[in-house]
Amino acid sequence: MPKLPTERLILGLPGTVFFGLLVLFAIVAFVYSASRRIRVLLAGAPDPRFDRVGLRIRKTLEYAFAQKRMFRDFYAGVFHIFIFGGFVVLTVRTLELVVEGLWPGLVLLPGTLGNLYTLAKDVFEVLVLVGVAMAVYRRAFARPARLDLTADAWFILFLIALLIAADLVAEGARVALAPQLASRWSPAVAVIARWLSGVSPPKLQAISDAAWWTHLVDILFFGNYLPYSKHFHILTAVPNIFFMNLDPPGRLATPDLEKSERFGASRVEDLTWKSMLDGYACTECGRCRVVCPTVLTDKPLDPRLHIAAIRDAVYEATPEILAAASGRGNGGDGGGPGHARRDLIGGWISEDTIWACTTCGFCTSACPVFIVPAVDKIVEMRRYLVLDRAEFPKEMQTAFRGMETNGNPWGIAAASRADWAKELPVVTMAEARGRDIDVLFWVGCAGSYEDRAKKVSRALVELLQAAGVSFAILGVEETCNGDSARRMGNEYLFQMLAQQNVETLNGYGVKKIVTNCPHCFNVIRNEYPDFGGKYEVMHGTELVSKLIAEGRLKMTGRVEESISFHDPCYLGRYNGVYDAPRRILESIPGLRLQELPRSRERGLCCGAGGGRMWMEEKLGTRINQTRMREIAGAGTGAVGVSCPFCMVMLGNAKEEIGVATQPFDVLELARRAMA
Ligand code: SF4
Ligand code: SF4
Repeated sequence: MPKLPTERLILGLPGTVFFGLLVLFAIVAFVYSASRRIRVLLAGAPDPRFDRVGLRIRKTLEYAFAQKRMFRDFYAGVFHIFIFGGFVVLTVRTLELVVEGLWPGLVLLPGTLGNLYTLAKDVFEVLVLVGVAMAVYRRAFARPARLDLTADAWFILFLIALLIAADLVAEGARVALAPQLASRWSPAVAVIARWLSGVSPPKLQAISDAAWWTHLVDILFFGNYLPYSKHFHILTAVPNIFFMNLDPPGRLATPDLEKSERFGASRVEDLTWKSMLDGYACTECGRCRVVCPTVLTDKPLDPRLHIAAIRDAVYEATPEILAAASGRGNGGDGGGPGHARRDLIGGWISEDTIWACTTCGFCTSACPVFIVPAVDKIVEMRRYLVLDRAEFPKEMQTAFRGMETNGNPWGIAAASRADWAKELPVVTMAEARGRDIDVLFWVGCAGSYEDRAKKVSRALVELLQAAGVSFAILGVEETCNGDSARRMGNEYLFQMLAQQNVETLNGYGVKKIVTNCPHCFNVIRNEYPDFGGKYEVMHGTELVSKLIAEGRLKMTGRVEESISFHDPCYLGRYNGVYDAPRRILESIPGLRLQELPRSRERGLCCGAGGGRMWMEEKLGTRINQTRMREIAGAGTGAVGVSCPFCMVMLGNAKEEIGVATQPFDVLELARRAMA
C-alpha cells in the first residue's frame, strides 16, 4: 500500500498533525464566517416560516434536490443537477478525506456500502466535470442575455473543476502505484490509472500527493470563500427553498400598525430575516430579469440587480448590525463611528426603482430557488416612503384622497356607486334582507365608476339573471377594497378600508362572493381573512364557466372572431385561474381562440398592478404598449381580458400605437353569445 501524503513531514510537522491543524483552522474560519451571516439574519425582522414542516421537506426534495424549476430550461437543468448531485455525493467524500487524513488506512465506508458509494462518487465526479464543461460552454459561447459574465462565476467553476479533477488524479495515481487497489467500482479512476501506468513510482507518488493536497486545500478554501462570494447560494439555496412562502402568493403579510414603531423598510435591519436570506440565496441566473416588464421597457428596476443590491447592503451593514447586537453600539467590528454605510433607499436602491414595480409577480414565479426578488421588499420600502416620509409620486395623492374620502381612487361621489345598476333589477343586500341570496356580487370601483367596466358589470348581472342565480350587491355600502392603497405603501388606508368592508360583509353574513375584478378577488380571498373576513370568493369567469358547464347558461349566439386571451397577473399568476376564461371563450360558437406566445404562467403584465394604474409612466417605454404590440402581433381581431385595469391599459395602448386588435371582456362576449 502506498504511503499517504499525510504520513510525511510537512513544515516540520508530521503530515497527520499538519492535516489536522489545517482542517481545524478551516472549520473554525468557516464557522466564524457562517455565524456572522446567520447572526445578521437573526437580527432581521420576524417572519414565521417554521410551520408545515412536512410540506416544506416535500417541497425541498422537489425543488432543491430534483431541481424541478431548473428544468424549465432543460440545458441548465441538466448541468445543475450534475453539479448539485456531485456536491451531495462529495460531501461524504470530504468526510472520507478527513478520516483518511487523520487516521491513515481507516476506511469510512467498508464492504458493499463502500463499493456502491465508490461507484456513485466515480460517476458523479465525471458528471460534475461534464456539468462544468456545459456551464463554461453556456457562458463562453451561448451567452444567454440573462447572465452576467462575472469573474466570480468563472472562479467558482474553476474551483469546482479543480476539486474534482484533483480527486480523480489522486486516486488514479494511487491505483497506478498500487494496482492491487484497483476496483471495478471505480471505472473513471481505472481509466486514469491506465493513462498513468507508464510513469515511474516516485513520480506517481508525487502526483498522488500533489493532487490529494490540491483537492483538500481546494475544498477547505471553497467552503471559506463562499460566505464572501456572490455564490453563497451554493450553501443557502436549499434552506431558502425550505423556507419558501407557503401562503397564497397574492397575499401580503399584515403588519400590526398599533404596535409598530417604524413603518416599512428603510434600513437593512427593517427587512425580515427571510428577505435577507433571499439575498444570500440569489444565484444571479437572471431568470427574473428576462421576464420583468420594467426591464423590457427600460425602467430602472431590474429584479436581479434589486436582490443583489439587498444582499450587498446586508453585507455592508453586517459589522454594524453585529456590533449593535453584541452591545457594542453603532461601531466596532469594522463598523466604527467613521464607518460610512449607504442607506437602503437612495443609497442602494433608488426611489424610481421602488415606484416602478407593477407587483406582477413574474420574477417570483420565474426564480428557481423561490426568492421573492421584489414585491414584498418593494412594498415595505413604499410603506416607509408613504407612512414615514410622506414622499411619493404626487399623482398618488389624488388616488389616496379619493379612496379615503369617497371610497374609490377616482374620487367620484360615494353616493353614486350603484348608479350603474339604476336601470337594472338589481337589489342591494339591505333591500334583500331576509331573502335567500346565493351570492354577493362585489362590483369594485372600476365596475361601479369606469365606463367600460360598468358595461361588464351589467353583462355579469344579465348572465346571473339568465342562469337564475339569486344575488345582491352592497350598493353604496361597498367601498374600495384597498388593493392599490396597500401596494402603493399606504397600509393605514388599506387596513381602514379592509376593516370597513369586512364589517359590512360580516354584518350581512355573506358566505359567497363573485367579482369580476382580479384585484378585488385577490384581496378579498387572500388578505381579508387577516381581518376576520373569510368567504368563498369566485371570479366572474369562474362562476359563468360553471353555469355554462351546468347547462344553466347556453352559448348559442355566434361571435365570428379570432381571439387571444391576456392573462391578468392577479387572476392567473397569483390565483391560478387560467382555464375558466378560456373555457367560456371556447364555448362561444364562432370564436376561435389562439394562445399568445406569452400566456398563462408566462403572461406579461399590462402595467397597471401595484398601484401603477394611478401613477404616470415617465421612464422608459410604456408597458401597456409593449404588451399590446405582442398581442397585435398574434394577428387576432380581438383580445379577451378579465380585468378592468387590463381593459383600460390595453384599450389605451390600442389607440396610442394604432393597432386593430380590439379588447373585449370575456363576460361581454358571453353576454353577446347568450341565447
Ligand atoms: S413584480 Fe413584476 S414588475 Fe416587479 S420586479 Fe417582479 S417582474 Fe418586475
Ligand atoms: S432572484 Fe432568482 S431568478 Fe433572479 S437572479 Fe436571483 S436566483 Fe435568478
